[in-house]
Amino acid sequence: MREKIKKQLLHNLLLEVSKRYDYIMEQNARIFEETNYKAIHDELTGLYNRFYFIEQLKKALYLAQRHQRYGAVLFIDLDNFKVINDTTGHKAGDALLKMIAKKLKNALREEDVLARFGGDEFVVLVEDLGEDEGQAVKLVRGVVDKLLSSIAYGHIVDQKVYQVTASIGIALFHHGEIEIDDILRYADSAMYEAKRKGKSQAVFFNPMIEERLQRRLLMETSIRQGIDEGEFFLVYQPQIKNGRIIGAEALVRWNNAERGVIPPSEFIAFAEESRLIIVLGEWILQEACKTLKRWEKDPILKNIKLSVNCSAIEVMESDFEQKLMRILTRYGIGRGKLCLEITESLLMSHHASLADVIHRLSEFGLKIALDDFGTGYSSLAYLKSFPINILKIDRSFIEDIYLDRSDQTLVQAIVSVAEDFGMQVVAEGVENKEQEQAIRAIADHIVVQGFLYGKPLPLEAFETAVKERSAEYGKEGDA
Ligand code: C2E
Ligand code: CA
Ligand code: CA
Repeated sequence: MREKIKKQLLHNLLLEVSKRYDYIMEQNARIFEETNYKAIHDELTGLYNRFYFIEQLKKALYLAQRHQRYGAVLFIDLDNFKVINDTTGHKAGDALLKMIAKKLKNALREEDVLARFGGDEFVVLVEDLGEDEGQAVKLVRGVVDKLLSSIAYGHIVDQKVYQVTASIGIALFHHGEIEIDDILRYADSAMYEAKRKGKSQAVFFNPMIEERLQRRLLMETSIRQGIDEGEFFLVYQPQIKNGRIIGAEALVRWNNAERGVIPPSEFIAFAEESRLIIVLGEWILQEACKTLKRWEKDPILKNIKLSVNCSAIEVMESDFEQKLMRILTRYGIGRGKLCLEITESLLMSHHASLADVIHRLSEFGLKIALDDFGTGYSSLAYLKSFPINILKIDRSFIEDIYLDRSDQTLVQAIVSVAEDFGMQVVAEGVENKEQEQAIRAIADHIVVQGFLYGKPLPLEAFETAVKERSAEYGKEGDA
């Protein structure tokens, strides 16, 4: 009897132990699965992450080489996501990303690998595209068409409809030796090419893109070096009112060790693409403030106002204001001395997120000038919602003003509406007496800037010019 009870007890105990063991094993398996899932998935969309994608790409490259079959990597970047995200908030942005992830997934075959690398950047790996290049290209085009049309319809988030387009860069791979990093870079640069070509389209990588890419990388490196080695400097172009110099526009130049002085048209775009403009722009602002500080000690120069050009990328940086305030405080720049030139197209494309920034800058005593006015198709009434102090009429309207009646009418209208709104007007790019006369006939008091009055000059030469003109036209600043 005793033996029987003992046996039973032992049996129960063993059962208990094994149940616990099973439980623990189950727990372990679950934890393992969860960590495993997290390790290879993107948390927001549930798509694969970069880590998993690269593992799969490694395998794919190996297999493509072995079986001599084509495959492709597609970089997908949403064209207008940043604006949507900035204007509607991150929650709506996240919801939209999830929705798009789902649509992209549905447009692909089960065996294609779709990953999100972060932000609005999706990447696709497509294998088994056959042994013939033409065939592979055709097949990829089919995939791309499906992807683009899957997201072409409006997406509804919080009862609002969002229209989204994407730019796609494609890099094919085959048997040749190719590095993972290279193929990703190719797809990425083809994607940039698609953006450059006007967005909402797909571009195949080709060696010409590679060449441009190489040039861009080289440029980036030398811009970075140039900043470190103090190769950039500012020149100052006079702004004239009633004959006197009342201000200057600071324009950046690059004195490169090998190539000599390089104009901004050859490097600003590169600096923007690589975001180096953020560092360069900070240096420019600092240099401009240094100059204003230097002028403060001079009875004539202290009346000169200085304008600085700001790029979209710079102004959109979240700490732009803090940086600017720090510089202004450091050099003790008084209210109304420094003017920021922002292009009309920048204002149009980022108006929602820029409005607050511009209002705060203006409250802090900075002047705001709208650069290249007339090229961005905005209405003056619309611009009234921004605290804009100065309107710079683009050179293209000044060029033929003495010949073209419609340019005269246009400039006349701009001046009268701008002045109604309390904005000062600057006519840019005045090169000859005929243009000057035509402008004077419309409004003799507006500010003019152009080669007729002076090319952009190095600091000291500009200072001399101010003093000479001041002797000629009388001292009192009036602006
Ligand atoms: P922008 O802001 O419209 O600057 C005026 C440009 O027109 C300057 O060219 C100036 O030299 C030129 N200009 C002035 N008067 C005349 C004229 O009578 N006739 C002609 N044909 N041109 C005239 P620059 O210095 O080569 O600058 C070109 C552009 O590069 C600027 O256009 C601006 O968008 C950008 N840029 C220049 N400096 C900076 C800078 O410091 N920061 C940033 N972000 N952009 C800059
Ligand atoms: Ca400008
Ligand atoms: Ca301009």
